[in-house]
Amino acid sequence: MPNAAFTARITDFTGARRTVTLSAPESDAVIDTALLFDGDTITASGDRRGTLTITRTLSHPAAATATRTIVLELADQRRPTDRQHEDLALISEWEEHHPEGAVLTPEGAARTRFERVTPGRTQRLLAAGWLTPGGRAGGHVRVSYAGRVAAVLHEHRLRTGTVGTEAWASGAVWGGWVPCPPLYVSMCGCGWRSPHRSEDPGIARSHGRSHRQGRLQALFTA
Ligand SMILES: [Zn+2]
Repeated sequence: MPNAAFTARITDFTGARRTVTLSAPESDAVIDTALLFDGDTITASGDRRGTLTITRTLSHPAAATATRTIVLELADQRRPTDRQHEDLALISEWEEHHPEGAVLTPEGAARTRFERVTPGRTQRLLAAGWLTPGGRAGGHVRVSYAGRVAAVLHEHRLRTGTVGTEAWASGAVWGGWVPCPPLYVSMCGCGWRSPHRSEDPGIARSHGRSHRQGRLQALFTA
């Protein structure tokens, strides 16, 4: 029984709901199908869980438009460690020129030409659903969509800070010194910093979420 990569909450065309777990190969197939099928859209959320929603819309001249949604949430909500993130990046870069993925050795290590992810580390990535075993000839591993989503969440850790050291502003306009409210700005682990500042930390956080949402959505645009 392969490990769960995503939990899928499905609302089908009749409105019936069910929740299933999908392994890495299963969820990769669901997402690849959605990318190929014109009636499907994939929308990434900006939340910290990296939720994806696949909506299938079927319209027929003689019937009302029907929709089905599949809401995918990472089954393993832990973030990859720095080491795991490096291992995923190594395999993912290798895949750019070797679509079948890294070789899975008989000992269980993932190997590219010059580098190797040890069997223990490879097995932990497989257990988290972040690698998809298989490949056309078998004996390969690729980074699953769950692994790619987890990597984006690792790279784009948001925080909200304040800018400006002056607690008081000169009040030439108002006559006298007046307290100056702090301005909040959203910052990301990738080095991004919002060009917008806000007196409302909630608004600043929403800028950060929209940055992360954009990076996640980019996984699903050709
Ligand atoms: Zn970022």
